[in-house]
Amino acid sequence: MNVPILAAHAVTKSFGPTPALRDANLSVTAGEVLAIMGPSGSGKSTLLHCLAGILSPDSGEIVFDGQRLGTLSENARTLVRRDRFGFVFQFGQLVPELPVLENVMLPLLLGHTSRRVARNAATALLDRLDLQGLHRRRPGELSGGQAQRVAVARALVTRPSVVFADEPTGSLDSHAGQNVIDLLVASAREQGATVVLVTHDARVAACADREVLVSDGEVTDYAAAPAIEHHGMGTR
Ligand code: ADP
Repeated sequence: MNVPILAAHAVTKSFGPTPALRDANLSVTAGEVLAIMGPSGSGKSTLLHCLAGILSPDSGEIVFDGQRLGTLSENARTLVRRDRFGFVFQFGQLVPELPVLENVMLPLLLGHTSRRVARNAATALLDRLDLQGLHRRRPGELSGGQAQRVAVARALVTRPSVVFADEPTGSLDSHAGQNVIDLLVASAREQGATVVLVTHDARVAACADREVLVSDGEVTDYAAAPAIEHHGMGTR
């Protein structure tokens, strides 16, 4: 219970002279849905990319499932991303030439799952995300909300431990956006996946179990704040 699956310890990251993260600390419990909130440019995406092993911190470390990502080879990190993580981006980033079903099968095929098993898994998820009947469409023939639901199916099809979503509703109207978030959160919970969700939309964050705020590259974790305050008062 309350096992951290993913944590950032004193993570710092700059892009040239621009500091994006300053001493960021964060811990995510297995099965938790965490929202990372904050204004544009505050460092949310940088934090997500560090947590997901896409960016390497300048200092500090990311620990996933007991492994320090910084100690893994680039190859091993790639395998962690492929096999243990799922990703949903703001603009679905589906493969335009492939039909919906093939887009969702793709992560499994890249991991050498058989086509039959991949097709069954993709079909089940497409059903779960209310996308029955759209298997043969190309991404260009979908509404924005449908395309994002396909992106959610693709992220979940490998049954990842952690799903990272970066402004997954940023390109949608509020009704379609809410639908995508509801389905993302519900289907991730059914799989027992942890969700790390970057958003600046309070309604999206309201679906999460917990929120942290990123401001000027610093992370404020409200759940952890009372303990820090208590410690501070005790040492005065
Ligand atoms: P958010 O996701 O909250 O909008 P970001 O993490 O994208 O914020 O950016 C944090 C800061 O880092 C910003 O000042 C941004 O301009 C800068 N930044 C992010 N990515 C890059 C990059 N690849 N090159 C240069 N600066 C970057």
